[in-house]
Amino acid sequence: MTKDIATPIRTQEIMAKHGLTFKKSLGQNFLIDPNILRKIVSQAGLTKESAAIEIGPGIGALTEHLARDAGKVLAFEIDQRLLPVLADTLSPYDNVKVIHSDILKADVEQAIQEELAGFEDIMVVANLPYYVTTPIILKLLLEKLPIRGLVVMLQKEVAERITAKPGTKAYGSLSIAIQYYTEAEFAMTVPKSVFMPQPNVDSAVIRMIKRPDPIVQVIDEDFFFSVTRGSFVQRRKTILNNLQSAMPNGKAKKELILQALDEAGIDPTRRGETLSIKEFGLLSDKLYPHFR
Ligand code: SAM
Repeated sequence: MTKDIATPIRTQEIMAKHGLTFKKSLGQNFLIDPNILRKIVSQAGLTKESAAIEIGPGIGALTEHLARDAGKVLAFEIDQRLLPVLADTLSPYDNVKVIHSDILKADVEQAIQEELAGFEDIMVVANLPYYVTTPIILKLLLEKLPIRGLVVMLQKEVAERITAKPGTKAYGSLSIAIQYYTEAEFAMTVPKSVFMPQPNVDSAVIRMIKRPDPIVQVIDEDFFFSVTRGSFVQRRKTILNNLQSAMPNGKAKKELILQALDEAGIDPTRRGETLSIKEFGLLSDKLYPHFR
């Protein structure tokens, strides 16, 4: 096996060899600890029959661990400067394809068809650029790609919000949007010392495994998401107050909101953070005829 990229010395050597500097604006905090990498990759349950999709391979620290465990790795990197570096550092591996692209603009479905044909098990595994973690995760879920799930490193605070359960401070519309599609679990907290340069915030790894069907069936997904977002605008207010502000003409239609809450079996004095995703689904369907 070749020497790991993810050590402080090797990372510095690679950066110096290619005259590279870290771009903070692209969230470039590279991993320099092989133990953490092994732990992240083990969360994905990869075999040689699986493919991995990586967002932001950097200089290849995580990519090479994925290449060792998976049948193929497809990586999207926005920073053109890193392409020759990756060609160099990943030269021992013949099962990696790097695409130069902003993941938010990439046609991921087409790339999967072209590069990962024949792989039935596909996992996204990434140490995400922290300035765009949520848009990336939501894009990959909303596009309904043929993936089993995602294992990602991100800011600890966002990790807590995504995996939060009802009744907790971190629970909100982001928890609901992601848990609607996936079973999301907090895997581990990660110290700042495993990155170069060290980020300003604490990090964590989460695992999201896609559900065969969303956790609750709703009449209209967009409406459901607008109800959940509206219910958390002012966290200290009751669900009734929040919905009156969030629903079109909500103040005048208070009686209809009360009626929908009653039909859904939800006390109007409760706060949004106490409602389960199933309760939000029911409530959304009861509100829908009046506000669609
Ligand atoms: N995987 C490497 C590691 O763990 O050491 C690097 C992770 S670093 C936190 C994030 C990487 O994402 C950087 O290489 C950065 O250039 C890349 N990146 C940032 N924005 C991106 C985007 N919109 N699309 C694709 N890659 C992006």
